[in-house]
Amino acid sequence: MTEMRTQLFINGTWTEARSSLRSALFNPATGEQIATVPVGGTEDARAAIEAAYAAFPGWSRTAAEERSVILRRIYDLIVANADRLAEIMTLEQGKPVKEAKGEVLWGADFFLWYSEEAKRINGEIIPSSRPTQRILVQRQPIGVVAAITPWNFPSSMITRKVAPALAAGCTVVVKPAPETPLSAIALFEIFEQAGLPAGVANIVVGDAQQIGREFLDNDKVRKISFTGSTPVGKFLLEQSAKQVKKVSLELGGHAPFIVFPDADLEAAAEGLLYNKFQNNGQTCICANRIFVHETIEAEFTELFAKKLREVTVGNGMSDVNVGPLIHERALAKVDGHVRDALAKGAKLVEGGARLAGGEYESGHYYAPTLLTGVTPDMDVFREETFGPVAPFITFRTEDEVVAMANDTPFGLASYLYTRDLATTMRVADRLEYGMVGINESALGYVQAPFGGIKQSGMGREGGQRGVDDFVEIKYLNLNF
Ligand code: ADP
Repeated sequence: MTEMRTQLFINGTWTEARSSLRSALFNPATGEQIATVPVGGTEDARAAIEAAYAAFPGWSRTAAEERSVILRRIYDLIVANADRLAEIMTLEQGKPVKEAKGEVLWGADFFLWYSEEAKRINGEIIPSSRPTQRILVQRQPIGVVAAITPWNFPSSMITRKVAPALAAGCTVVVKPAPETPLSAIALFEIFEQAGLPAGVANIVVGDAQQIGREFLDNDKVRKISFTGSTPVGKFLLEQSAKQVKKVSLELGGHAPFIVFPDADLEAAAEGLLYNKFQNNGQTCICANRIFVHETIEAEFTELFAKKLREVTVGNGMSDVNVGPLIHERALAKVDGHVRDALAKGAKLVEGGARLAGGEYESGHYYAPTLLTGVTPDMDVFREETFGPVAPFITFRTEDEVVAMANDTPFGLASYLYTRDLATTMRVADRLEYGMVGINESALGYVQAPFGGIKQSGMGREGGQRGVDDFVEIKYLNLNF
């Protein structure tokens, strides 16, 4: 791997953790150790928060154009370093290097988009009740933001939070996932090169409980932005109540993917393949329950199975479609879901087992899997699998499929394939999800408000609304 820093970045300085401890990182494709990183804790988190707090008055008062220029410089530098960042990501996370580069560039786009948006965080003037009054509404940066991010998108989940936060004039402390700290640290090397003033963005890697505790207890943190699992999200929300911190959460999903009988089946199969095998099924918007109308089930199953058989699995540094799963725990969960479904009567069409031997021996590889005859009593129907398993469920009527699709506490992404506009409008209106893909299986676009309802979270990331979570509304009542 190309030489890179493996330290914390606090107040513009690269530093070891106060504990002086370091922990080892392993490549999920080979099991080999790739680096060590500091084990940061309470003191490091506190120092980072202090730095962000001290930098806030200066950064929040910089001219929007000035912030915009630095954000644009960060974009340019990420693009210029995309190959290196992609390689780092593949080594620690496992996704194929081509896909990793796609994520790096998509992540960079948040800096481009918010470098432009930084100049348009406008307020309003509202007609008043008295002639001498003027009512002015300002959007002011909230203050220090603590961002906690997951391992499945090690780069873009950071840029999607940090870019709008910096555009708004906030300062940030990032705690990346312990599985993927290198991609995060590499971004901070770029922030430094781009000339971001000291303390405006800080990173602490290490003990999640200790760092999280400090984020929650330190009243200088005014906002917590989290992407990760639902239990941790609920914990952070509950604990934020003590200081009434502003919280945004992007949590788990359990996406339905509905194929109506009039759909373009080729497009649906292709869309499903892309969606299901992006990041080897380890995304919160992956299709987890695929509802196929009974009249097209045989044809669609055959079409999809043919495509699935062509998916290549291997070390992401080589030319493959999917890499390993992140760790042994993830693999055990995927296999558990498959065993449970088979025990309860599902039919195995493809895959269904761990890949072992040869190049697969030391990594966490699972065969792309297709199950049919899945029913609501199975774990795959109830829980997020987070792996390469496509469970097909048969449906007969629109009412039935909408009821099944909504039968979950989650409400992030949903998809439907049909050629009929009336079906589209009726079903899209009734789906209890923050996002609906219609003849479209990709949802993460910089300009669009990404986010969920129900237990999938609160707040939106991306687009103009992505700034809302980092600003407070202040209204001035002027009387002259
Ligand atoms: P996953 O199970 O997919 O790893 P998590 O929700 O555990 O999902 O992880 C998402 C992020 O939340 C990671 O950065 C992780 O370290 C962090 N995290 C986990 N537990 C806590 C906690 N108690 N406080 C703060 N952050 C946490």
